[in-house]
Amino acid sequence: MSKITIATDWLAGCAGCHMSFLDIDDRILQLLEKAEFTSSPVTDLKHPPKEGVTVGILEGAICNSHNVEVAKQMRERCQILIAIGDCATFGGVPAMRNLCGTKEALKRAYLEAESNVGGLIPDSPELGTPLDEVVGVDKVVKVDLFIPGCPPSADALFYALSELLAGRTPVVLPPKYFKYD
Ligand code: SF4
Repeated sequence: MSKITIATDWLAGCAGCHMSFLDIDDRILQLLEKAEFTSSPVTDLKHPPKEGVTVGILEGAICNSHNVEVAKQMRERCQILIAIGDCATFGGVPAMRNLCGTKEALKRAYLEAESNVGGLIPDSPELGTPLDEVVGVDKVVKVDLFIPGCPPSADALFYALSELLAGRTPVVLPPKYFKYD
């Protein structure tokens, strides 16, 4: 039987959710019996393969046009999309800038911060255009499963993937895996 393929990527986040993923530790060997990881920010392959994957995993919020492109590409190339972490679920920490607005946040961070001398607001096509509002992934693409938490525990991630690999879908996370801190 061919293995289930999994691709991961991150948007506006801190990489903490991917670190939690790595905290699965040696249990990842159990996952690898049934799954193959194709691309992720921690491998040489940064984009999900064109032929598509079974499961796509996204960390981080949507805060700029580049994030929108990455989320849409993952959605197009995966059958099941999982949003991991509070940022991907509802905006999380990056969405704090919504309180003052994008322009004000950029001005404060890059021009007015006490550590800046002759500051400059970054402006490069490679960075994407900042959006007026930071949102969760489901505001731009359909999400099939949310695993909230900042970050979600390795146990929660392992449970969700194990259920998927066992074909028990839709995955329902037991309450003990929900974190609200
Ligand atoms: S949910 Fe928390 S750990 Fe995950 S990317 Fe956001 S800030 Fe980082």
